[in-house]
Amino acid sequence: MAKAPIFDLSGRVALVTGASSGIGDRWSRILAAAGARVVLAARRADRLEKLKAEIIAAGGQAIAVAMDVSDEASTIAAYDAAEQAFGVVDTIVANAGMNSEGLATDLAVDEFDQLSAVNIRGVFLTVREGARRLMADNSKEKQHGRIVVNSSITANHVSPGLAAYSASKAAVQQMGKVLARDWARQGINVNTICPGYIRTELSGDWFDTEGGLKQINGFPRRRLMEESDLDVALLYLCSEASRAVTGSSFTIDDGQSL
Ligand code: NDP
Repeated sequence: MAKAPIFDLSGRVALVTGASSGIGDRWSRILAAAGARVVLAARRADRLEKLKAEIIAAGGQAIAVAMDVSDEASTIAAYDAAEQAFGVVDTIVANAGMNSEGLATDLAVDEFDQLSAVNIRGVFLTVREGARRLMADNSKEKQHGRIVVNSSITANHVSPGLAAYSASKAAVQQMGKVLARDWARQGINVNTICPGYIRTELSGDWFDTEGGLKQINGFPRRRLMEESDLDVALLYLCSEASRAVTGSSFTIDDGQSL
């Protein structure tokens, strides 16, 4: 099992969207290693089942639930399944996201709508459903609600060619701040992480192309980040230690945006 450093999340129930690959896969393992019971959510059920088996084999607890974040009924059903297995979800990690290919002038409106449906509506549905259930479970008294939204450095930093994606990431960053204010007295903390570039399925083979290598060489440290570079920030924001942190946005990008 992946190493869990200093934060003990035992007793927590965490739902991670986009758990079937990349950062969500890593975050699911890390949360489980820190003691949380983890609900693995995404559309590719086969991947989730494999991850679940690996987490359990390593001594953790997890279930896999099929969930399309852009679909309200699917989101509600996933929370129902989570609750049936582990009880109310108190740690919500809205990580699922997608990118679009090509320049804005080539982007079909359907692709724009699909990206918005996953990256913006998907985050909204995920956190809204989670917050409703937390409030019904008396989060006001328990003060234990934790929501982490995966935004991106593109929310605040200009990345040529990523207009739609960047706009969606800025939208969820601001959504997180407003919801943090809305839910401040409900015992629910909402924070966003803005990671720099990491090699995952999202970027495909871009970083092996001439343009991608040029982009890497333009970063101050001339390298991509590793998924593990985000571990401690995630654990902190999901733990009791971040009691007084809400409405914050954490840029963790190895200086890529400098
Ligand atoms: P991946 O492509 O590896 O992961 C994306 C995940 O999102 C998959 O698990 C996918 O699962 C899930 N997903 C996509 N659409 C849906 C949907 N409709 N319903 C449910 N799940 C969905 O990329 P990353 O790990 O890189 O991306 C994870 C998050 O991190 C994204 O929000 C991305 O924007 C963000 N990010 C990534 C960075 C990077 O450089 N890689 C940098 C900054 C932020 P499935 O297809 O099985 O449904």
